[in-house]
Amino acid sequence: MPARRIDLHTHSTASDGTTPPAVLVAEAAQAGLDVVALTDHDTTAGHDEAVAALPTGLALVRGAEISCAHGGTSLHLLAYLFDPADAALAEALSALRSSRVGRAEQMVRLLEADGTGVTWEQVQALAGGTVGRPHVAQALVAEGHIGTVGEAFVPDWIGTGGRYWVPKLELDVVEAVRLVTAAGGVAVFAHPRAVKRGRTVDDDVVVAMAQAGLAGLEVDHVDHDDAARAHLHGLARELGLLTTGSSDFHGANKTVRLGEHLTPEDSYERIVALATGLPVLQG
Ligand code: AMP
Ligand code: FE
Ligand code: FE
Ligand code: ZN
Repeated sequence: MPARRIDLHTHSTASDGTTPPAVLVAEAAQAGLDVVALTDHDTTAGHDEAVAALPTGLALVRGAEISCAHGGTSLHLLAYLFDPADAALAEALSALRSSRVGRAEQMVRLLEADGTGVTWEQVQALAGGTVGRPHVAQALVAEGHIGTVGEAFVPDWIGTGGRYWVPKLELDVVEAVRLVTAAGGVAVFAHPRAVKRGRTVDDDVVVAMAQAGLAGLEVDHVDHDDAARAHLHGLARELGLLTTGSSDFHGANKTVRLGEHLTPEDSYERIVALATGLPVLQG
């Protein structure tokens, strides 16, 4: 049997992707994937729609990407197959989403005050679920200030620390690993060396995460160059962590395609074997 094509990181309209969950699973099958994970930011709201639309031959891993931080550096934690009814984790995700609303509104107020024409009603209409900077960026594109969503992530707009940027609530990353694991889920550190996006953390933080139950590192990712990948492979080997690859698909908000990077079969099997919160659903 040829190796399965496994993409473990995608976003839908339940957060800051532009593809509805039902369309995302259809496109995943069309892209020749055998396994796809839906990992919207701080929410499981897209799961039911993806499950209902799951095409024959595609397996769905239900997950989320959790907003975290360590020592003032923003980080993302992928969480797979956790129990969405786990009270502690569900409350934490709910707090993250609430904070995002107030923070997006504050960013819009700053933009409004400077006469950009961006309004809160406009951004709310663009966000179908978890609101994020890409929705504010879409409004900036609509008002003709920039040409693409990516151009908003600079110091003059809403790049981290930028003129109109406002921070959001983030969970301590080690605490988040514990929460996910306690909810029967499997935690994988998303794009640990995505230096293009801002600061990253040193290996000692990964060691602390591993001690708290971290299962793996996302290595093959668009934001990692060859040196970052080589380093992360070495670190994973040293710490006994599995490694994944994934597209981090966001529809039209990013240029990556579904299946652009893939996860090795043995890593996927380890994730499935570790999870106790939810089963993988086979379409
Ligand atoms: P937020 O979670 O609201 O702080 O916004 C962060 C999100 O913005 C990430 O999840 C990405 O989807 C997106 N993002 C970050 N940097 C870029 C970039 N350079 N180009 C396009 N999207 C980006
Ligand atoms: Fe995103
Ligand atoms: Fe991320
Ligand atoms: Zn992501």
